[in-house]
Amino acid sequence: MTEIDRMLAANADWARRFPGSRPVAPARKVAVIACMDSRMPLFQLLGLEVGDAHVIRNAGGIITEDTLRSLTISQHLLGTRETVLVHHTDCGMQTTDDRGLADVVEQATGHRPPWAGRTFTDLDADVRHSLAVLRSTPYLASHEARGTVYDVTTGLLREVV
Ligand SMILES: [Zn+2]
Repeated sequence: MTEIDRMLAANADWARRFPGSRPVAPARKVAVIACMDSRMPLFQLLGLEVGDAHVIRNAGGIITEDTLRSLTISQHLLGTRETVLVHHTDCGMQTTDDRGLADVVEQATGHRPPWAGRTFTDLDADVRHSLAVLRSTPYLASHEARGTVYDVTTGLLREVV
């Protein structure tokens, strides 16, 4: 059985327990920007229910042009007004640097990626940098944003102040 087959089977079970449709605009008017890490079940660890929040994820939970595209749509079209950043301990982005990542890709494929990996070493510094980028983005409807680091060994979220 492939992973997708397992997921399709699991989905049939989900559909039997389906809580019902929700409005497209997130009920709690919040957007979460987080790393794609598999150990962060964001709805559970943040106390969110289906329909409560947008979740924008990528490697590192960094602020990219596409993160800002999604957040802009989240705010202007779908009414979110608070943004929460979630980085986490033991992040894969801390295991190499941009050159090392590009080297790995090039050695495996013969092609050097045209984009920077945007790796980082200091979690808190990257959260602060991300907050600064959000706050200086002029086309957002709300600049209300706070940043956190999730500890993957304890399940605790720590706010970066
Ligand atoms: Zn990560």
